[in-house]
Formats: sequence, C-alpha cells, structure tokens
Amino acid sequence: MDLLTLGEAFEDLVFLDLPRLPDPGEEVRTSRFVRTVGGGAVITAIASARLGLSCETWSALGDAAVARLRAEGVAVRNLRRRDEDHAISAALSTAENRSFVTYDGVNDQLEGRLVARATRIRARHAHFALGPRQCRLWIPVLERLKQSGIGTSWDFGWNEHLLDDPDFARLLDTLDVLFLNEQEALLYSGRRRLAAALSHWRRSPGIVVVKLGASGSRWLSAARDLDAPAVPIQPVDTTGAGDAFNGGFLTARLTGRSPGACLRLGNRVGALSTRRAGGLDGLPTTTDLPDARARRRGGRTRTSP
Ligand code: ADP
Repeated sequence: MDLLTLGEAFEDLVFLDLPRLPDPGEEVRTSRFVRTVGGGAVITAIASARLGLSCETWSALGDAAVARLRAEGVAVRNLRRRDEDHAISAALSTAENRSFVTYDGVNDQLEGRLVARATRIRARHAHFALGPRQCRLWIPVLERLKQSGIGTSWDFGWNEHLLDDPDFARLLDTLDVLFLNEQEALLYSGRRRLAAALSHWRRSPGIVVVKLGASGSRWLSAARDLDAPAVPIQPVDTTGAGDAFNGGFLTARLTGRSPGACLRLGNRVGALSTRRAGGLDGLPTTTDLPDARARRRGGRTRTSP
C-alpha cells in the first residue's frame, strides 16, 4: 500500500445556488442539490488513487461511501458498526457564502478506534485527516510510524480546541508534513499576518505546506522556501479543494518528485476538483494532466506535472 488515509468521512448534502442564507424560521429553496461523500480521509485517498497510487482508507463510513471508495479502487476498513449512524453534513451555499450543519454520529467514537488499531498501520505513508481530541494519544503512534520508516502527514482542519491542548505543539513537531490553509496557518501560529505566520512555520522541524486558495501554495522547511502559483480556473464549488490538493501533493511526493513538482501537482488537483460540486466528481485522472495530454498529442513529455 502506498497511502493509508485515516480520519473522518461525511455524507455531504449540498444545497447550491441559494439566493441567500435563511434567517431563523425561514425556508429558502433551490433547484440545485448534490448528495455526495466528503471528508478528508475519503477525498485525499480517491484523489491519489485516480493518479495511480494504491490507497486504503480507515474511517467510519456510510454504505454509499464504502461503495464509492471501492468503485474508485480504494481499499476500505470501515470502523462503523451496523447499528451506528454515519456522520452527515449539510452545506448551504450562496454565490458569496456557505454555512454548514453537521451531525457527528459515529465520528464521536472514531478517534479511539483509530488509535486502538494504529499498531496495524502498514503503508509507505499515513495521512491523518481529523481534529484529534487528545494529541497525547497520537504522539507514540507517530513516533512508532517514524521508527518503521512510514511517512506521516496531517490536515487538522479548523479546530480551535487544539490551541488548548498542551501536546499539540509536540504532535506538530513529530510530523513529516503538516498541511494548513491560510486561515489555519494564522490560527495555529497565533499570528495575525500571513508573513509572520509563514516565518513561524518555516522554523518547524518537518515540512509545512500552506494552501493559499487562488494564490496557489507554499512549501516551508529549514532547507527550502518555495511557492507555486495556482492553476487558473473559475471554480464551481471549492468544497474539498484542500483535501484534493493533499492527494495531488502526496502522489507527487510518493513518486519521488521534487518539492516544486509536489506543489504543482497539489495545485492542479486542487483546482480541477473545483470544476464540480462536492469534493469528488471534479478530481482528475492521469489522462487529465498535462503530461498525458502532451503524450497523446505526440508532443514533448515533461518530467514535472
Ligand atoms: P482549503 O480548501 O483547505 O481551504 P484552499 O482554499 O487553499 O484550501 O484550496 C486548496 C488548493 O486548491 C489551493 O492551494 C489551490 O491550489 C487550489 N485552489 C483552491 N481554490 C482555487 C481557485 N479559486 N483557483 C485556483 N486554484 C484553487
């Protein structure tokens, strides 16, 4: 197995093109609706599987999520028991804004079940996509993975409670790759300006990757500081773009590409994921990438995506 993703999954109910968000007691209607599967563990695994990595996901999954992962060639370990509800997230989306309501269901139990199985992780790289409630539990897991030569990355999402966890900083320092978006780069560094946050993250022992939406992405480490511009696109829906980016980035990293190529493939997969509503349907396959198009035209092939 190249990549194991561990973390939360949701059934995503996305109400699109709403004229406005409803006020209390109001009903707002739309004729555009998408029901799909979301959550970082699922999106990142499918993004990488479509680009040729062998992937597995450990999560608490509804039946539709299991079927979708298998159809995409991703192996599944479902940590939801039959009598438990899967998590559901409803997104209300207007042209300018989004609001979410989430039912956590079995995700409340997920962290303990993942920790309990962590000694069974077998893959070249383990990617975590959840906001841990107790960082302390994960430090020995990450240390053991490191000793076994298994690479690690984590996307914590926006979880303010992590700032109160005394072991969060140590958990960050144990990772090979930390993924942040711009708001998270500010939140977790305690800085108010991006430049100050980037200086903070540059001092991390591992690699920190900051995703900057339409401004692309940045690689920060002791040895390197480089950025890559975004791929121009008119997004239809940016849900899951960050998780799609992670899949592109990890695919490049696990196939031995340079730091710049990792950022570029992350940017491309993140941008293309916004072509469709939800996090999955817009994800590219290898035939959507410039390398493959150049080969089909019989043109020059490039070594970087
Ligand atoms: P998140 O979804 O975690 O908030 P971002 O919004 O930064 O993260 O998106 C992740 C990546 O997806 C970006 O780094 C970029 O490569 C790509 N992306 C997102 N939005 C756009 C956009 N409007 N145009 C081009 N690329 C985008």
